[in-house]
Amino acid sequence: TSRFDGVTMAPPDPILGVSEAFKASTNEKKLNLGVGAYRTEELQPYVLTVVKKAENLMLQRGENKEYLPIEGLAAFNQATAELLFGADNPVIKEQRVATVQGLSGTGSLRLAAAFIERYFPGAKALISSPTWGNHKNIFNDAGVPWSEYRYYDPKTVGLDFEGMIADIKAAPEGSFVLLHGCAHNPTGIDPTPDQWEKIADVIQEKNHIPFFDVAYQGFASGSLDADAASVRLFAARGMELLVAQSYSKNLGLYAERIGAINVVLTSSDTAVRVKSQLKRLARPMYSNPPIHGAKIVANIVGDPTLFSEWKAEMEMMAGRIKNVRQKLFDSLCAKDKSGKDWSFILKQIGMFSFTGLNKTQTENMTNKWHVFMTKDGRISLAGLNLAKCEYLSDAIIDSYH
Ligand code: PMP
Repeated sequence: TSRFDGVTMAPPDPILGVSEAFKASTNEKKLNLGVGAYRTEELQPYVLTVVKKAENLMLQRGENKEYLPIEGLAAFNQATAELLFGADNPVIKEQRVATVQGLSGTGSLRLAAAFIERYFPGAKALISSPTWGNHKNIFNDAGVPWSEYRYYDPKTVGLDFEGMIADIKAAPEGSFVLLHGCAHNPTGIDPTPDQWEKIADVIQEKNHIPFFDVAYQGFASGSLDADAASVRLFAARGMELLVAQSYSKNLGLYAERIGAINVVLTSSDTAVRVKSQLKRLARPMYSNPPIHGAKIVANIVGDPTLFSEWKAEMEMMAGRIKNVRQKLFDSLCAKDKSGKDWSFILKQIGMFSFTGLNKTQTENMTNKWHVFMTKDGRISLAGLNLAKCEYLSDAIIDSYH
């Protein structure tokens, strides 16, 4: 017997568990469309050339491995806030942003959730239905109660805008409304600029606090500025808000765990105090963040040549995904004789496509066709290449009908 006999087996993670199942499969046709990680046209992991250059620079300079301060690398924190809001934004100029380097997007969200739990006890988080699966875990573990607002409308395979607005309106005043800054995960459906304005209206009306999750800046449209438009629109209204950032996708730094939490406040004085409390929360959790990814980002964003090389590589990655999206749509239209309207695939943006396949149908995708994907019907187009589009559309059509 063990003192740990009471520990039951945890279920596999719905997203990372897909990768484990994929690895275990011996079928040569297998395709991993589960995790959102960029692959080349040869379906291999990709390290950006600009990242390799930045790493070489770091080696040449013989940089040390001393601890970072609790809040992370100062040059990174400056660069990441400027990338998000634009260097000329009043929130930056007036030093109204508290920025703390986090353990990528997840760790930054988790730190913010701990902050909400401590300083806004009982306040509710509102998350979209559906959302990235880990959001619920994060708020649960931080002890922040949450509820869902309507987002996806299966009838139109589009945004349930009326439902979204109604649910945000109905939530208790002062709730934290989690919004995906761009490339909503898993649906790939974003509000239009006009809809963002109306979302901001109700949030202001209800004294809610917007909490943006920006995991795909530059990766959705290929433009860093265009993908930050939603956040900037809210900041321009003078609202206080939170923004978690991640460099996993746009710089391919998945395993470096580099991101940040930014809190925009109405005064620089409040920003100083909020930052001090974020540091206080971080210290007993992980003490201080890792340096490697922070230096990479700071080097790239701080050097005009590397910065423009990064933008070009990001456009290349976003472009490859758009090509695959188009090819998948074309082959579905060419092969499917049922008259189904597949245009939703082209309307979605970012790394994913939300196919509308239900749980049984996704099981057919995996069991019969060896296409590994999450049970919510999401496929990562970043894990697909042009050569496999025909095969995938056969699998989708077979599973639908
Ligand atoms: N938020 C969303 C919506 C995501 O899709 C992801 C990545 N899958 C993250 C946050 C965080 O990822 P990471 O912790 O690797 O930055």
